[in-house]
Amino acid sequence: MQEIGRQPFVHQLDPLLRDLLTFGLVERREGDGQDRWVLSQAAQDRLTFLDRPTPGASTTFVVGRRCDRCREHAVTRRIGERYLCARCETEEATGPAEVAALPSMAERRSA
Ligand SMILES: [Zn+2]
Repeated sequence: MQEIGRQPFVHQLDPLLRDLLTFGLVERREGDGQDRWVLSQAAQDRLTFLDRPTPGASTTFVVGRRCDRCREHAVTRRIGERYLCARCETEEATGPAEVAALPSMAERRSA
C-alpha cells in the first residue's frame, strides 16, 4: 500500500481495518495507561505462516493456466512439479481444518 497524500491512504486503509474488526482479527487492549489495538493470536499465527518461504516454489506467477489440483483457471505458480492456485497451495500446506479456524464472514455477521 502506497501513501499518496492522506486521502487515498485513508480511502484504502479504512475498508481493510473494518475487515479486521468484522472478522475479529484485532483486539483492543488497555493497561499501563495505554489504549492500543493488537492482532489476535489467530491473525498473528496466519501472518507467520504466510510470510514463510514455500520450499520448491517458483516466484513466477502464471495467468490463464488451470490449477493442477482444483482444475480452475486461476493465477497459479509452480510448486515442485505442479502449478497450484493460492487457495490450493494454502490448503495443501495447512489442511482445510486450519483454514477454517478463522471465523467466516457469516459467523461474524450473526454474532
Ligand atoms: Zn486450485
